[in-house]
Amino acid sequence: MSIMHQNNKAPNHTHLKRHEVHQVIIIGSGPAGFTAALYTGRANLKPIVFEGDQPGGQLTITTEVENYPGFEHGIQGPELMDVLRKQAQRFGADCKFETVTAVDLSKRPFKISAGDKIYYTDSVIISTGARAKLLNIPSEELYMGYGVSACATCDGFFFKNQDVLVVGGGDTAMEESNYLTRFCNSVTIVHRRDEFRASQIMLQRAQENPKIKWRTNQDIVEVLGSLDDKGHKIVTGAILRNTKTGKTENVATNGIFVAIGHSPNTELFRSLIDMNELGYIETKGKTSFTNIPGVFACGDCQDHVYRQAVTAAGTGCIAAIDAERWLDANPLIYGYEPTNDITDIIMEEEIPQRV
Ligand code: NDP
Repeated sequence: MSIMHQNNKAPNHTHLKRHEVHQVIIIGSGPAGFTAALYTGRANLKPIVFEGDQPGGQLTITTEVENYPGFEHGIQGPELMDVLRKQAQRFGADCKFETVTAVDLSKRPFKISAGDKIYYTDSVIISTGARAKLLNIPSEELYMGYGVSACATCDGFFFKNQDVLVVGGGDTAMEESNYLTRFCNSVTIVHRRDEFRASQIMLQRAQENPKIKWRTNQDIVEVLGSLDDKGHKIVTGAILRNTKTGKTENVATNGIFVAIGHSPNTELFRSLIDMNELGYIETKGKTSFTNIPGVFACGDCQDHVYRQAVTAAGTGCIAAIDAERWLDANPLIYGYEPTNDITDIIMEEEIPQRV
């Protein structure tokens, strides 16, 4: 490598440090992330996948997935994600059970911090998905994990032969309610309106389930609880409020499942990348391009409309192809990271340290 001062004088600083520079780093491990990993793996881009706090994504906390093409009789969510991960790994994806804590997308190579390491990369695919929304009342937080849950699949088993409430009027609420009837004595859906966002088929399934009861035009204003004989917190009831009259009522229950939708996991990128008012990353047209060249987004972190496993997987494929073509068209030869200010130094010849 030769280093030259812009006006041919000796450089002030020559402390250059060599780093491994990856071609693509994928942040997030749902259907979008693993599909992006599969495609970039097969394109020999040796992707790294940071799996995050919920390895495998939202489908790992669901049960039967009946609408993912290719599985005539459906497949369990966790099993589907396991297969997707292994399929990506077969083509060289390096799946790390770590969470990205910071990103620097201001210039290439981009910097990704995870664990106690900084990773450098030519391109980034963001597939961080979305997470369950909560009611945000203090008693919900107090009893979270002690009778309040946002995941029927994870916690339903603990409510065998008990009576529970499910809050929400969308497909998640219908799905979770139906699922909970496998264990529970009764499931009461509490919905703040008398119209439902849920799709007709899911709503009908819930309506036809004899174990499901309904409380419409009501919301939960407080979770009630006490301590059991071992001194553990337990939920004993809730205060419901009629959203039309304002009248409140205490109801007894053993558990409360909050199923009121999701928020995109995009906090890490806030103020760095263009997002809509709900925090979903903006992508250009039918592509996965964000406003930052070399940074792509796919899956639920950029899709608040379809939010399906199969659409997430489809956009993961789009992001991989976009990244591959963009890397081809925008080769950047580097591999050295200055440790001092090098604003007046030109690097004439560098050997990329590709991995
Ligand atoms: P939705 O946004 O569709 O529904 C959220 C529900 O929660 C709404 O009924 C909403 O009420 C209610 N709600 C929101 N905030 C509050 C609050 N603070 N207090 C009380 N109630 C509240 O989210 P879902 O998670 O149900 O579905 C998201 C997407 O995922 C949809 O496209 C859905 O089709 C899809 N999905 C598909 C499944 C499948 O096919 N197997 C399973 C699960 C989801 P309101 O209507 O009054 O706004």
